[in-house]
Amino acid sequence: MEDNTILVTKSSLPNLEEYIEEIRDIWTSHWLTNMGEKHRTLQSMLQNYLQVDNVDLLTNGHMALELSIQALNLQGEIITTPFTFASTTHAIVRNGLTPVFCDINPDDFTIDVDKIEALITDKTSAILPVHVYGNVCDVDKIQDIASKYGLKVIYDAAHAFGVKYKNKGIGTFGDVSCFSFHATKVFNTIEGGAVCFGDRNKDFGLNIYRLKNFGIRGPEIVDSVGANAKMNEFCAAMGICNLKRINICFKRRKQLVDEYRKCLSNIDGMNLNKIQGDVEQNYAYFPIVIDEKQFGATRNEVLAKLAEHNIFARKYFYPLTNTFDAFHGQFNVDKTPVALHISKRVLTLPLYEELCISDVYRISDIVLSCKK
Ligand SMILES: *Cc1c(COP(=O)(O)O)cnc(C)c1O
Repeated sequence: MEDNTILVTKSSLPNLEEYIEEIRDIWTSHWLTNMGEKHRTLQSMLQNYLQVDNVDLLTNGHMALELSIQALNLQGEIITTPFTFASTTHAIVRNGLTPVFCDINPDDFTIDVDKIEALITDKTSAILPVHVYGNVCDVDKIQDIASKYGLKVIYDAAHAFGVKYKNKGIGTFGDVSCFSFHATKVFNTIEGGAVCFGDRNKDFGLNIYRLKNFGIRGPEIVDSVGANAKMNEFCAAMGICNLKRINICFKRRKQLVDEYRKCLSNIDGMNLNKIQGDVEQNYAYFPIVIDEKQFGATRNEVLAKLAEHNIFARKYFYPLTNTFDAFHGQFNVDKTPVALHISKRVLTLPLYEELCISDVYRISDIVLSCKK
């Protein structure tokens, strides 16, 4: 039976025979995890592909963030944004630190760099901005502020795999950049993640390498309280296969995004992210922002109309992390009014390699049919 359900994303997979070929030698080595050959191979392929000094692989993007904070020995407060996935904020809180929420800018939904300095206190130890939807944060201004106040910068680059800014890999900015290779991301290792860091941060590299393996320094020395966040060989093998075809994937996504833009640009009451200058995009997501006053329908009405046709868009990101029940009203959402405004109006449309151009037209038509 044909199933015409369209979800917001669909994981990219390599050819099955290719994956089987890649994992075949695991049956010879019997080495399943703990930094084996696949792990080493993927690590060096990524170092090359992302144009960064160093890469370390982890079980997922969340542990990349959580262990980065621990590996940098951060204390006190970290300035971040609430317009993100739960992981970003949780990584701070799970380290016993306090997130201080900065608003986002309305053009690309990244941290509003003009509002950071006012939030710095004597407890601030770092800034944790998000390259949300693959949009590049104002990395130059953020570095200026960090240098001026002696703060670390950790980028949540979970959405930004393969993005380049001024011809440099996005993972080269800040002290650390954390990537997610979750099944739903543009590049996946089933579950997985990585940290990227420069040669000047070699100590950080040693710390995180130990922290992802329980804090074990040597056979008889355990000198930090680590977690278990090692990428296994089957995930690394998936990454090796998917990385070989990543350019096909980006090319296809670009075609789809170009068509969405043709259909949905210049519509009253609907805003698309501006295309950033000096940026090589990865076409990870296609968010639209719907303003009821001019569009004549709410975001939720558009979502419901799509669902009637078995098309499931998502409210990335709603609710804001600073309104989560888990935080029991600790944070005042009125301090991030732009993020609040966008989160009530944003909708992320389906986008994945196997989506048909005709589906892009159909989805766009349904969205536009809601307009009054
Ligand atoms: C997916 C994601 C993460 C977490 O990555 P996982 O690999 O799922 O643990 C963190 N931040 C953002 C913005 C994400 O989208």
